[in-house]
Amino acid sequence: MTTSSGRSAAIIGAGQTGLTAALGLLDNGFDVTVYSDRDQRSLRDSVPATGTALIFGTAQRAEESLGLNTYLATAPTSTGQSVRVVDGSDPARPEEVAFDASFDGFVGVAVDTRLKADDRLTLFQQRGGRFVVETVGPDRLDGIAAGVDLTLVATGRGGLSSLFPTNPERTVYDRPQRRLLALTVTGLPYGPEVFAHRSAAGGRHSAFTVISDQGDSWLGPYLHKDAGPSWAFLGWARPDSDWDRRFAAVDSATSALRTITELHRDYIDWDLPEVSELAVIEDDQHSWLTGGVTQVVRSGVGHTAGGHPVAALGDTAVAFDPIAGQGAQGGLVQAATLVRKASAHDGPFDTAWLTAVFEDFYRHRARAAHLVTRLFLSDPELAEYGGLFFAAASASARFASKLFGLLDDPRPVERLTSQQAAYELIADFAGEPAEAVLGRFVPAGRFDRSRLALRAA
Ligand SMILES: Cc1cc2nc3c(=O)[nH]c(=O)nc-3n(C[C@H](O)[C@H](O)[C@H](O)COP(=O)(O)OP(=O)(O)OC[C@H]3O[C@@H](n4cnc5c(N)ncnc54)[C@H](O)[C@@H]3O)c2cc1C
Repeated sequence: MTTSSGRSAAIIGAGQTGLTAALGLLDNGFDVTVYSDRDQRSLRDSVPATGTALIFGTAQRAEESLGLNTYLATAPTSTGQSVRVVDGSDPARPEEVAFDASFDGFVGVAVDTRLKADDRLTLFQQRGGRFVVETVGPDRLDGIAAGVDLTLVATGRGGLSSLFPTNPERTVYDRPQRRLLALTVTGLPYGPEVFAHRSAAGGRHSAFTVISDQGDSWLGPYLHKDAGPSWAFLGWARPDSDWDRRFAAVDSATSALRTITELHRDYIDWDLPEVSELAVIEDDQHSWLTGGVTQVVRSGVGHTAGGHPVAALGDTAVAFDPIAGQGAQGGLVQAATLVRKASAHDGPFDTAWLTAVFEDFYRHRARAAHLVTRLFLSDPELAEYGGLFFAAASASARFASKLFGLLDDPRPVERLTSQQAAYELIADFAGEPAEAVLGRFVPAGRFDRSRLALRAA
């Protein structure tokens, strides 16, 4: 096939990152082939979504820059996050911190990765892209890379990721830090009556809870591929906690919902009436997910047996624990950057060029994205700052808003090299001295309880 640019690309993996890059390259005149281990129907209906994939302004603009649908017109969006923190290290389990952060200049949108990939794959084929159903192994990759100008590997955290060695200097953990439980559900509207006890924004603010000795939970608006506007629950259990044992026993959507409901009954009762409204999505056998993610940074460039350079994209390059929502966002930013640079580049896509593009992405996004994830994971190196930030957020609405802006643009986290730097960040974000902000902090006392009537069990 002759194209206006006369250049060709192969993309391995038809997840949302691979297909975003594929469409972008196609629209910029590349002759593009996508290789997938599953056919289109199976990608949509026979697997769980890779993750919740809540994304914010920068990642949405990356999609827009490629002319892609952001789903902002059709998906339920969130305008902020409502936070509650219980100090589980104290036997009295005090209800310590309560605040509501309104997002500043962006909204959150979480779209089923299967829907996004399916829509992009349809568009890709309609516009003349080639879709090949084939599981690509290292030998086959060598042949594919030999025949095209640019090869991108977007096979997720498994797949061909072992072709790209882990970078030990950029990788802090050797195992998942939390056991995860994800479930998509229906049954709850988004009006002001929902979560009214948390904030006037009601269902437009997602509900985030930290029980410090157990883990974290998040419940927010979601666009499900079949059920449409719905809700996603995401839980993070600390190792060897009661939550960890409960999550490990989940083996179906029904048992996931039962576990989540019991978790709220026993630990997060202020939200129990909302959670009691939730219902399993009967049409989707794959609406739930358990497991864990080891946060790694790999080498952005690998080589096939024949010496052809190939680039890692999305989860294949950098994997994140989802606590700060960085994986899908990073993948989309990386894909859009790569498309823009490849389209503007005149020479070969050799090792030096691919490495420079990845290093630029690492410096401008992935490094800070890993750091903000560690901050929200209460990594021992950063936990002290996290404690200060939650106290500051409950005393300054402006700080709270900017704190959650870090999920959109994590770069300011790179400044956190000392307690002094943390104080400076609080002052910058709050617009007043950190001491004044922190001096206003008072423990929440008892959180307001839900005003919805509790449905009989
Ligand atoms: C529980 C959970 C919650 C999350 N929440 C968020 C969030 O709120 N915000 C956020 O930004 N990120 C979040 N993430 C991360 C996000 O979901 C992922 O980063 C993103 O979906 C990865 O997309 P991908 O296209 O890179 O990989 P994948 O979606 O894994 O796609 C890879 C594709 O490659 C295919 N493949 C694999 N091997 C081969 C092969 N050998 N040949 C051909 N094809 C192959 C696979 O079948 C798959 O279709 C979350 C992750 C998890 C686990």
